[in-house]
Amino acid sequence: LMQLFRPLDLLGWVYRTIRQGLVDMAAMFKLMDTNIEVEDRLGAPAIVVRQPIVAFEDVTFGYERDRTILKGLSFEVPAGGHTAIVGPSGAGKSTIARLLFRFYDPWLGRILIDGQDIAEVTQASLRAQIGIVPQDSVLFNDTIGYNIAYGKGGADHHTMEAAARGASIMPFIEKLPDGFDTEVGERGLKLSGGEKQRVAIARTLVKDPPILILDEATSALDSRTEQDILATLHAVSENRTSISIAHRLSTIADSDEIIVLDEGALAERGSHAALLAKRGLYAEMWSRQQSESEAVA
Ligand code: ATP
Repeated sequence: LMQLFRPLDLLGWVYRTIRQGLVDMAAMFKLMDTNIEVEDRLGAPAIVVRQPIVAFEDVTFGYERDRTILKGLSFEVPAGGHTAIVGPSGAGKSTIARLLFRFYDPWLGRILIDGQDIAEVTQASLRAQIGIVPQDSVLFNDTIGYNIAYGKGGADHHTMEAAARGASIMPFIEKLPDGFDTEVGERGLKLSGGEKQRVAIARTLVKDPPILILDEATSALDSRTEQDILATLHAVSENRTSISIAHRLSTIADSDEIIVLDEGALAERGSHAALLAKRGLYAEMWSRQQSESEAVA
């Protein structure tokens, strides 16, 4: 009987691994729009991350042959550092995240994690190191527990509960009659945008990756929920290297470093205060967003 089970176990593992990949991918873009063109090198080793340092070295890349999107971009995020990428729409912010997750390889230059070129290691080992908290979280039509445990292809109850606490969704789950077994999604309980985002954060905590990509919500959360989620994300990012892709500057003002992209090139870099003092593109974007939010208030 055991011999019968072993291949089934393996199949289950393959299935879960693929599903996990899909969760992350679906999280970052609409799945079908993505051209998956990158393959592992023959005999590629797994990445070994001791210090989660992320470095872009002269990265040049475009989706189409005659349209360069990133133009010789270099930056480094130290282990445990929090870097934000800002810039006008279409500047290439999300492209940076896609390259780091290795959906594409750069035309020129290299992307290194802890000194290892991500093009030289297996994609599965690379993606295990990176958690994505996306702007619009995708939930399976299944239980809330299943949705959280997906961070690691099935997790024990203790891990799941710790993650739910870390994401501040445990009080919500405790109030549900069926707790973790409550069905969510189209046929089950409908979750609000903020609750869905917390499930995504809990999923990331189960995965427990050393590197985080935080893709800021463009979808409207009310400002109190947004503040709460931001506080949770701050706590979750502690002791991890994070890269935030931000549209609203107020959410990333306290990053260690802010990188301002303009048409695929690094226009400015520095702390919020240093960039304001510079009176350049960042300062201009900041004052524009300040007056917009005053107009709304
Ligand atoms: P936003 O703030 O609007 O989200 P962004 O700075 O994140 O923008 P990217 O999504 O990185 O910008 O896109 C940079 C450029 O690359 C855009 O001009 C976009 O049209 C183009 N682009 C993005 N994805 C693809 C793709 N799959 N194929 C071709 N071009 C693409």
